[in-house]
Amino acid sequence: MDETLSRQIDAFIEENKDRILWDMTRLVGVPSVEGPAEEDAPFGPGPRKALDMALTIARELELGTEDLDHKIGYAYVGGKGEKYLATICHVDVVPIGNGWNTDPWTLTEREGYLIGRGIVDDKGPAVLTLYALKFLQEHGGALRYPVRAILGSNEETGMLDVKRYNETEPAPLFCFSPDAEFPLINGEKGIVHGRIRSLCKMEKIVDIKGGAAYNAVPDKAEVWIQAGSVPAQEGLDIEEARFGVWHITAHGIGGHAASPQGTVSAIGILEDYLLENHLVSEAEEEFLRFAVKVPHASDGSLLGVAADDGLFSPLTVVSGMIYGEDDRLVQTLDFRFPTNTSAARLQEILEKEAAGVAAIELDEGKAPFYKDPNEKELKACMDAFREVTGSEKKPFTIGGGTYARSFPNAVGFGPEHLDRVRPAFVGPIHGANEAGHFGELLEAMKVYIAALMNLEELEF
Ligand SMILES: [Zn+2]
Repeated sequence: MDETLSRQIDAFIEENKDRILWDMTRLVGVPSVEGPAEEDAPFGPGPRKALDMALTIARELELGTEDLDHKIGYAYVGGKGEKYLATICHVDVVPIGNGWNTDPWTLTEREGYLIGRGIVDDKGPAVLTLYALKFLQEHGGALRYPVRAILGSNEETGMLDVKRYNETEPAPLFCFSPDAEFPLINGEKGIVHGRIRSLCKMEKIVDIKGGAAYNAVPDKAEVWIQAGSVPAQEGLDIEEARFGVWHITAHGIGGHAASPQGTVSAIGILEDYLLENHLVSEAEEEFLRFAVKVPHASDGSLLGVAADDGLFSPLTVVSGMIYGEDDRLVQTLDFRFPTNTSAARLQEILEKEAAGVAAIELDEGKAPFYKDPNEKELKACMDAFREVTGSEKKPFTIGGGTYARSFPNAVGFGPEHLDRVRPAFVGPIHGANEAGHFGELLEAMKVYIAALMNLEELEF
């Protein structure tokens, strides 16, 4: 990178970092978990408020803004031309879950880390992209391609935001999404969600519930069962809720469904306990014996669906939630699969495996996508990353589903560094105590600015 440019970006960061921190604090301060649709708040009042806040920040930075039906918006520099570059972030977040040591909606600083729900996924990066545009406005001269910082508000739950965007907006020439890891994500596994539904009715199980989303390993699960008595077990909270009904709570270690390594499913702990102690009816037991195969083997091997294509990491499956519905037990599924299997094939195998015990309902899935790391746009991003960080790491593929898949030419690009060792108080995205290093976030912004400057040079 040009030394002058490098110095300009550093000076820009120095000048703006207090304001960046304040804007991150304001945005994290809006609880923006999806809620029931309301008038003018299609994904509930939280995501709407967060989108308003992000667009307000953009306007304060003197960027142009557009709001598309309060579902998704964008800030822009260099006009609104049809041939433009873009970044995309989101301002909705997953539910807070349990185990926080600080208020998740109050951005808290500790040893250089910022702690709060969404600071890494993806409100912090959203603020960084707005400031990257401000830099282009101040230092980019006459831009060859306008640049948009797209701001979604339904990434975590339905991606109906980007669907709305694509209804009226031309696709960007190239888009990167700071909703991922560095250095660059050139492929994403296929994703399909679904449910295992018991054929038997709930008998001994009065109620059961665990987890809050398809795409997160649950850290807590509870069951209410009819029994004369139940054995104690270390780590489980057990109380008699009323005469003959026991309330049992299991605690696990939450985390993202795309990388279940290191997580412990609370649903699995609860199911093991019910099975080992024969606390439920025979039919319920039969269902649980099938359902527990998910938390017991996140590679899908116990379900007969394990798959590995050499391009991606192997298939993963997690159960994010369990609940009772119409007297049936329902356990959710979140599959991330490589190119050598498909949603249709998963459905076929699971139906056989679950025959007589459970119905399998798989939703419409998303196929895997893969981009060649030698394409010019990917190189432009990688050059910026290498020059700013000095790292020689190579693009890689993941199991997560980012926005990149929603555009014809897009990748995931930072800001997480999954290989860096973190203090124990730093939690993961989607987990408790989600935290990101402020200095690293600012460094990521330098990468984004440099990448946009490189992309401006390209012929599209
Ligand atoms: Zn995200």
